[in-house]
Amino acid sequence: MAGIQGKVVLITGASSGIGKSAARVLAAKGAQVVLGARRTERLENIVEEIRGAGGIAHFRALDVTNLEDMKAFTQFALDTHGHIDVVVNNAGVMPLSKLEEGKVEEWNRMIDVNIRGVLHGIAANLPILQKQGHGQFINVSSIGGHYVVPTAAVYCATKYAVIAISDGLRQETDRVRVTVISPGVTESELAESISDPGARNAMVEFRKVAIPAESIANAIAFAVEQPDGVDVSEIIVRPTASAY
Ligand code: NDP
Repeated sequence: MAGIQGKVVLITGASSGIGKSAARVLAAKGAQVVLGARRTERLENIVEEIRGAGGIAHFRALDVTNLEDMKAFTQFALDTHGHIDVVVNNAGVMPLSKLEEGKVEEWNRMIDVNIRGVLHGIAANLPILQKQGHGQFINVSSIGGHYVVPTAAVYCATKYAVIAISDGLRQETDRVRVTVISPGVTESELAESISDPGARNAMVEFRKVAIPAESIANAIAFAVEQPDGVDVSEIIVRPTASAY
């Protein structure tokens, strides 16, 4: 199976930023997208917009930190379409701060969403993709999965984890494709989760060169449209003007 037309694509964190743009881009190329996130009003609007443009889209409320919820999201996609071709584990949060601030609740939230969320996506869908004998995981890491900077120790740890988990999964499967997408600074709501004033101010300058979310969605589409025998293992997409 190659191309995007007709593929059933599940996207977590589809209510804003990269996930929302991926839903639009993939649906415009003929994918049947299933959107998940907690803010269902937004999902409803995106689904309406995609349907208005002639695309096929559905949504279901999803909290990726809850395994049963993830399983229900997968079951919803199966009930709707009968099979699953691609799972985009995209949901993520980034409340940056120095470790000395001791924001343990925020550390735990990043671990729960950015690591456990991806693992839940794998747990819920891998048995189905293996039974089908084909399928693809697209796990969204970050340039923060390649290097660490102050205030980002825990966030980067979660994104290093996404790369490690993805590579392990890739090695363990010979029929399921595994792709890591590592964005550089990209327009989205991600920095809004930063409660620490210092880290928040630093991000304002850092994010000035941000590229549109569609740039990342296009990279996701490239990985999806390759033939079953071709695994695009990782793509890094960053602003030309960014050193990181
Ligand atoms: P946004 O904040 O715009 O989007 C994050 C998405 O994650 C939202 O749709 C949000 O939906 C969802 N989300 C958060 N928590 C949960 C949860 N518990 N369950 C389900 N969904 C959840 O940021 P981006 O689009 O930028 O982020 C997408 C991914 O890209 C993340 O993994 C991020 O780490 C990564 N990334 C982004 C970069 C950037 O510069 N923008 C750079 C590198 C990586 P809701 O709140 O409705 O649940």
